[in-house]
Amino acid sequence: MRENYIVGNWKMNQGLKDIKDFFGVLKSEKFKANCHYWIAPQALHLPFCLEMINNTNFKIGSQNLCFETNGAFTGEISSKAIKELGCHFSIVGHSERRSIYKESYEDLKKKTQQALDQNLVNIFCIGETLEEREAGKTIDIVKTQLTESLSGIKGLNPKNFIVAYEPVWAIGTGKTASPEQAEEVHSEIRKILSSLSLSGDETSILYGGSVKPGNVKELMSQTNIDGALVGGASLKPNDFRALCATFGE
Ligand code: PEP
Repeated sequence: MRENYIVGNWKMNQGLKDIKDFFGVLKSEKFKANCHYWIAPQALHLPFCLEMINNTNFKIGSQNLCFETNGAFTGEISSKAIKELGCHFSIVGHSERRSIYKESYEDLKKKTQQALDQNLVNIFCIGETLEEREAGKTIDIVKTQLTESLSGIKGLNPKNFIVAYEPVWAIGTGKTASPEQAEEVHSEIRKILSSLSLSGDETSILYGGSVKPGNVKELMSQTNIDGALVGGASLKPNDFRALCATFGE
């Protein structure tokens, strides 16, 4: 079933004091029943964040996981260890992982499988570069990203799988896709998911790319946008609170 989410991707930011301050401010927040509040901190901070969210509705997840469960993979993060700690989800295929760490479609397929095997909800990121958008290739690109990494995977369903459409040109740049641009792609993503037997109408699809308190409402009011994956604006508790307020009661 489609549900609403505000997911903060803290990337390689926040120190222990920032984390303490963040949850200190938000722990008294009145959580809305119709929205999920998730945070993905640096891997090293997962245990601390899990401690901090005690008695709140927050859920914690990882920004990445290894494509194997365990073994000789120095420096990697095991899906099993993530789950064992008490995490709820993992982000897979963020554009920074694709571009900086050259993660391939095949890597992302294995990572998706890892998340699935460990009962971690998979937030699967896709999106086009500016060059690809200007060449009119946006839909082809997201179709390829979904098809190449997801076809053949069994067991994905709307409870364990969320898509995040994040145009690369909008991530961390202050340039946001217009609500109409985002809506158009989200609606196409539903069709692509259905063509992969993934129940497009039921899958939650988040938008990401310079979402902030000033633009979140308009974006979230689009029919096919179910929530946001947020980088910069998720670092400050008051901004995060303002983002959460989007989903009303
Ligand atoms: C992201 O990293 O997923 C992201 C959307 O970042 P920002 O909100 O800073 O553009």
